[in-house]
Amino acid sequence: MCFSLPLLIMINLEHYNQIKETLPSAVKLVAVSKMKSIEDITALYQAGQRCFGENKAQELKLKREALPHDIEWHFIGHLQSNKIKYIAPFVALIHSIDSYNLLQEVNKQAIKYNRIIPCLLQFHIAQEDAKFGFSWEEAIEMLNDTQFSALQNIEIQGIMGMATFTDNQVQISHEFHWLHHIFQQLKSDYFASNEQFKEISMGMTGDYLLAIAEKSTMVRIGSAIFEI
Ligand SMILES: *Cc1c(COP(=O)(O)O)cnc(C)c1O
Repeated sequence: MCFSLPLLIMINLEHYNQIKETLPSAVKLVAVSKMKSIEDITALYQAGQRCFGENKAQELKLKREALPHDIEWHFIGHLQSNKIKYIAPFVALIHSIDSYNLLQEVNKQAIKYNRIIPCLLQFHIAQEDAKFGFSWEEAIEMLNDTQFSALQNIEIQGIMGMATFTDNQVQISHEFHWLHHIFQQLKSDYFASNEQFKEISMGMTGDYLLAIAEKSTMVRIGSAIFEI
């Protein structure tokens, strides 16, 4: 006997709907679809999701080409300068600007495509060396540089951070609290007159409720949605 199996769609609509209901209306859900198939992403699209996050530039480019063009694509991973070109024409937000040099390169690509690319500054808040991001001192050094204000084709819309991968909820909350503090300090010292500077991207499957409690405006959730 020969069966033709229906395509196996691996998304967890129950979790998706649950998350949508729990999120305060001001908090944006970025569905992290890295390594997920076109079919899975399409299924979530059909459930109404329009904002997706990816962490590999070439994979993102291929998915953009294969999927409906009203999807808002966010880039959330460590970005290498030579890969910016793949996403520069269409990316809606780069969450992971982790060096001044990268920001300058993004600006160059944005000029090439005649657009302004929205960006978040990623801060290193975790007690893990493997994670990327600015320290407070590095960020201040960049923001005080006269060349920084000459970058006309990027728009800094806020900051992003990842907490330590741990079961210690108190530690995670402290790290998110610190990120919120960084946001407020930058807002008052450097972006007071900039209405676009308003996002704090923090919270993933394991810690998004803690992140919301610490005033996250954007959560990046993958496994809760894409794994059964
Ligand atoms: C993979 C990833 C996420 C999503 O993680 P989950 O635990 O699957 O929700 C969020 N942010 C970044 C930067 C990621 O790489």
